[in-house]
Amino acid sequence: MIIAIDGPSGAGKSSVSVEVARELGFSCLDTGAMYRSIAWQALQDGIALDDADALGEVARTHEIEFAHEPGNPKPMGVSIGGVDVTSAIRTAEIDRAVSPVSAVPAVREALVAQQQRIGRAGDYVVEGRDIGTVVFPDAEVKVFLTASDEARARRRVLQNEERGVGSTDFQTVLADIIRRDELDSSRAASPLRPADDAVHIDSSDMTMQQVIDQICSLARARV
Ligand code: C5P
Repeated sequence: MIIAIDGPSGAGKSSVSVEVARELGFSCLDTGAMYRSIAWQALQDGIALDDADALGEVARTHEIEFAHEPGNPKPMGVSIGGVDVTSAIRTAEIDRAVSPVSAVPAVREALVAQQQRIGRAGDYVVEGRDIGTVVFPDAEVKVFLTASDEARARRRVLQNEERGVGSTDFQTVLADIIRRDELDSSRAASPLRPADDAVHIDSSDMTMQQVIDQICSLARARV
């Protein structure tokens, strides 16, 4: 079974996906980490963020791997071309670089193919922006998870504090979230939008557990 969870930055997709996967015994696929890894590699190689051909080549020629430990749906880390980038892809620099990189059709084509290969190998909770619309249009459960801009910025600040990377200034984080949503929603290639058959969940005034419970009941109803 595929559970597709799409939505804007900071809506809680990552935390919710891991816990839903844990409860149902599924694995998790964080597709944002894959776009971030390509952005990291591009910066590393000195590739201009408007050089679509070179960015497409990076995505076609670098393998992204998630390190899993048995019984834990959350990968311990992510690597690209054999280099561990688990922390390196969570910086403000990557936050800025990732939207232009993910807007390149050739990058998306390469990553979508990888995502489909991974996801169809088992039961997965897959989170991203285009999972229910493009990557797994036949997903058994589709959720579009949102929250107010302020709620999302507050959560991202807490997450950055916990991880010890990225900005912890509320206004900076809020501005980045709004900027990234605009870029992700207005791009020509697979813009952020809900699938027609997605269940919308606004998590602004919900606890994480309430969101998890709602998604697990949707999944159980499909079994
Ligand atoms: O989910 P996360 O915030 O880590 O995603 C980082 C960026 O990757 C997003 O802002 C978006 O530009 C891109 N992305 C995408 N399609 C996905 C997942 C992420 O374009 N399926």
